[in-house]
Order: sequence, then structure tokens, then C-alpha cells
Amino acid sequence: MHRAQEDHRSATFPALTHGLLADLKPVFGAEDGRPFIFASTGTGMWEAALTNTLRPGDRLLAARFGQFSHLFIDTAERLGFHVEVIDLEWGEALDPSALEERLSADASHEIKAVLLVHNETATGVTNDVAGIRAAMDAAGHPALLLVDGVSSIGSLEFKFDAWGVDVAICGSQKGFMMPAGLGMLCVSPQALSRIETAGFPRAYFDLRPQLLHNDQGYFPYTPALAHLYGLREALDMIAEEGMSAIAARHARLAEGVRRAVAAWGLRFCARDPERRSNTVTAIVVPEGADARRVIEAAAARWDLALGSGLGRLNGRVFRIGHLGDLNPLMLLAAIGGAELALLDAGIPVMPGSGVAAAQRWYHESA
Ligand code: PLP
Repeated sequence: MHRAQEDHRSATFPALTHGLLADLKPVFGAEDGRPFIFASTGTGMWEAALTNTLRPGDRLLAARFGQFSHLFIDTAERLGFHVEVIDLEWGEALDPSALEERLSADASHEIKAVLLVHNETATGVTNDVAGIRAAMDAAGHPALLLVDGVSSIGSLEFKFDAWGVDVAICGSQKGFMMPAGLGMLCVSPQALSRIETAGFPRAYFDLRPQLLHNDQGYFPYTPALAHLYGLREALDMIAEEGMSAIAARHARLAEGVRRAVAAWGLRFCARDPERRSNTVTAIVVPEGADARRVIEAAAARWDLALGSGLGRLNGRVFRIGHLGDLNPLMLLAAIGGAELALLDAGIPVMPGSGVAAAQRWYHESA
């Protein structure tokens, strides 16, 4: 990423743009879908997804089960959409049959889109996108499926085409192993056909000038050049390892963390073991303990960054992120550090118990 700025209107620039857009497709699991890149973050991509495919005031359906599904809904509401919310306990996944029931009752097809966070980073829950698409199909409902893959795409298997996703949303700072600063989308042909008729006022996030310029190998504005070179490297690394191998590595790494949590005798925020995330684990502290003390001790005494409990989970959970450029030894250090910080916060765990459980798993699964 340490490059001098270069002429982004030069005759040679299109090679970079075309390569990035083409190589993003397999990461999304898309052949038909069309990728877009913005100087932005995941939040901007929520706005781009909503404003380019829907009409002002449209009715949408979304489940809320953590801080990011809450903020996706909040973004849509602030843009003036009417969002019907299925409120779940934070730590639960969306049950496809609940969605099917609601969509089947919408005989006049008032609901224009379903908003779904694939991997809820706040609770460590991964939703079943294939199951949700199957539920939409079973209800015979034409709503678009807009999926936030900020903490899944590039780390977990994501099957844009096979799952019938209409817009997938992500950012550069998680599975792409980069600093924050790029927002990325993948848009299905069906969703793309709505761009002209969407009728929503758009400016920076309008996909139409992107289409025009990207086709020529350029961007409508000054692109974040350093980030584009970072993305070039990230896509090369992802292609070298392969998406299936990356997903398998994340599954193995995550299982070590889960075994450590079980050895500590602590609870997972994610209720259903089947839906526990392979990119982040949210751990509930015992009643009367304060997770903020664990996070503070980890940072101050052990130089370890644990994730905080977001929104209503503040003080109740701490999170271990396990995605991107990561191997078992790096994670064993984090598990060891979390043990020390738990002890600092007065939460009695057996020193070495989590590390030993994870070590055993990494050893036997090697
Ligand atoms: N969606 C999910 C699942 C996230 O984890 C995040 C951020 O962590 C966002 C959306 C928001 O993205 P950003 O912070 O890049 O704007």
C-alpha cells in the first residue's frame, strides 16, 4: 500500500481496476453478480445497497439479533424506509421458517426486500443464508435479499449466486485483512435492473456512474489508490490459499476458541452451537462480573485487544476475533491473554485450561 499517488486517468490504470473487479467475484461466490468498490466502509455500503435497489418509503423486513443488524435497520429507517422488525434475543439466529411464515402472509407483496446480517459480529452468530433464500422461495415471495457480509465475506464460504443473494455488502477491514477504507458490493442482475427505476435520490453512492466508469477501467472519483493496491495484494493472497481452504482454516481456528471457552466453563452468547461463528466468538461473563474489566485488563496489562460487548451487551460479553491473517499460534497467545485478563477481572478460570483445550484440538486436527 506504500505507493506514490499515480494518475488514475492514465491509459494503464484500467488493468488494475478490471483485475480487482474480476477477482472479487470468486470471493463473493459470484459469476453473475457484479462487484463495486467505493472509498467507504460497510456502513456506506448499507446505504448504497438500499438506495440503489429500492423506492423511497418501501416496506422492508429485517431481523434484529445484535448491534449490526440493529444498525442496518437504523440506517434503513433514517433513509425513510418502513422496516418491519423481527426482534430476537441477541445471540439467536433468524429461523428461516419464521421468515417464511411472515412472507407467506404478505400476499400482496408489500415487502420489497429482506435485510439480513450473515455474520452478526456483536454476538458471534452466523445465519443460514441458504435456508433463508429457500424460505423466501417457499413463500413464493419476490422480495430482494440484501445481505451484510462484513464479517463473513473473505473468511467464510459465501455463495452469492447459489444462495440467490441480490446485494452483498462488505468492507476491507475484516476478511480482506486491510485497514478500513473500502466498501464493496456485489449486485445481482435482477437488483441491477432496478437501478434506473429505484427512484431514490443518490449522489456519491449512485451505482450508475460506477457502471459507466468501471466498464472503461476507471472510477468516477479519485480512487483510494493505496487501498486498491492493498486489495490487489489481499485478493492475490486469497486466491493463493483458495476460498475453501480459507473457510476450513477459520473453522479449525474457531473450534479451538470454542474448546477454550468450554474449558473455562463460560457461556457463549450464540445460543445454537450450529450457528456459532467461525470469525468471532462472543463470551458471556458470569452474573455479577463486568466484561469491561476483562477488556481493560487485557489491553492495559497484556497488550491484547479483545472486542467489547456492543450495544445492550456492553459489560456482559467480551469477544475474541479470529479472522483474516491468523494461525493457531497467534490464537493460542490471544486465548492465553484472555485467561490472564479473566483472572485480573476476578473471574476464576484455571490458568492454562483454555490454552490446553485449544492446543489439544489444534494438535489433533493438524
Ligand atoms: N456490519 C457488520 C456485520 C459489521 O461487523 C460492521 C462493523 O464491524 C458493520 C456492518 C459496519 O461496517 P463499518 O464499521 O465498516 O462501517
